[in-house]
Amino acid sequence: MMGNKERRAVNVKGLLKRNWLLIATVLSVLIGISLGVVVRDYVSLSHLHKQYFGFPGEILMRMLKLVILPLIISSMITGITLVMTIKPGVSQEAENIDRAGTTPNVTTVDTLLDLLRNMFPENLMQACFQQYKTKRKELEPVKVLINTTTIPPLATTVMTVVENITREYKIVGAYSDGINVLGLIVFCVAFGLVIGKMGDKGRILLEFFDALNEATMKLVQIIMCYMPFGILFLIAAKIIEVEDWEIFRKMGLYIVTVLSGLAIHATICLPLIFFIIVRKNPYTFTVGMAQALVTALMISSSSATLPVTFRCAEENNRIDKRITRFVLPVGATINMDGTALYEAVAAIFIAQLNDYPLDVGQIVTISITATVASIGAAGVPNAGLVTMVIVLTAVGLPASDVTLIVAVDWLLDRFRTMINVLGDAYGAGIVQKLSKRELERMDLISDVDVANPFALETTLDDEECEKKSYVNGGFTVDKTDAISFTETSQF
Ligand code: ASP
Repeated sequence: MMGNKERRAVNVKGLLKRNWLLIATVLSVLIGISLGVVVRDYVSLSHLHKQYFGFPGEILMRMLKLVILPLIISSMITGITLVMTIKPGVSQEAENIDRAGTTPNVTTVDTLLDLLRNMFPENLMQACFQQYKTKRKELEPVKVLINTTTIPPLATTVMTVVENITREYKIVGAYSDGINVLGLIVFCVAFGLVIGKMGDKGRILLEFFDALNEATMKLVQIIMCYMPFGILFLIAAKIIEVEDWEIFRKMGLYIVTVLSGLAIHATICLPLIFFIIVRKNPYTFTVGMAQALVTALMISSSSATLPVTFRCAEENNRIDKRITRFVLPVGATINMDGTALYEAVAAIFIAQLNDYPLDVGQIVTISITATVASIGAAGVPNAGLVTMVIVLTAVGLPASDVTLIVAVDWLLDRFRTMINVLGDAYGAGIVQKLSKRELERMDLISDVDVANPFALETTLDDEECEKKSYVNGGFTVDKTDAISFTETSQF
């Protein structure tokens, strides 16, 4: 018989084995911070050497970015295909913020139009590495005639032109670097729907993309083993790079306000919504996402965190692949609760710095534009800072004041990215709950009538579905492997 002590040892061993990656990642964060502080204080490194120092971290970012494209394409196509087959029922870097003090010409309308333009890329290959970004060019000012005088002997009219009346702009289309995730998502959704409709002819494509998805996830597994090492250098290099630590004292209250808002959102608002709909412990769910949250905190990019988010959601929180494949890429592209909250707080902070009183209407305007602007922000570092300009101009604040908060953005970006990723994961959990009946119906079809799923789908009503699921011993919605169902039912 095993004694208490031995049992405890086995438990601890099991716990370590299951969570080794998370533990290693957290340790690497702590070691990275200490290493950064020591190197910054005791070793004087040139700019070039600082960059060499961050090299292992750079490699991690490159590896994570590398798998985004095949992951999004394969998961979106197969995820959609499946829903249609069975018939039940998501970079811009902040490079255009000029850190020296000028701001780009961004307006709400242009951002929304760009969002729509990017949904329909004119070239699929180009969408894999570039996205459309409107630039405004100012035209020659239009001048107004303000004074005319007639000189009698010559009968000549003298016109005095002095004042500019309107500033005219024209849109100059331009492309900027970064995957056009939205365009790829829209294309893959349409493509998946078409494959789903093609029946037998589309099977080969479906199998191809499913195999691509599996292979990419295996690559992710390998990348994750390198993650603790990469993260250690990523964080250490950042600490060495930051020169002005005094700014954190000066902007302390602002930082505390943003972080408190994000904390309330993550620990009260999101869990409450999750609990009301899903009726499960939201905090256990958050713990399941821990690896993805730490990754987001370290790399400030919800898109690059996507591979890890997939793994945590599917393996720890048992969310069905049919749900994650669709919800997570879309969420990483347009669902940015952390960014929306941050942009609203930052705009109000800037208004207060300018002694600019805000009435209720303006606060509502800030909330709405911050939400829209966050949708327009890509899941890459500092993207929220770019779209922040929209919020400022919407309430008449100087867009150039965005530079007031640039210095601390690298830190706040990490936390809001973490909340963005958490929001996506909760979203997937909620969609899973809301689609429970459809998922069960799909499972049922595969169990009962493998030859003709469509006939069964039309003949089963909800009550029958429930009865059958009882007879079959009940379903767990997360047990399914999407492709195995497709293979047995559709083909
Ligand atoms: N870095 C954030 C993300 O990737 C976007 C932002 O800048 O707010 O989700």
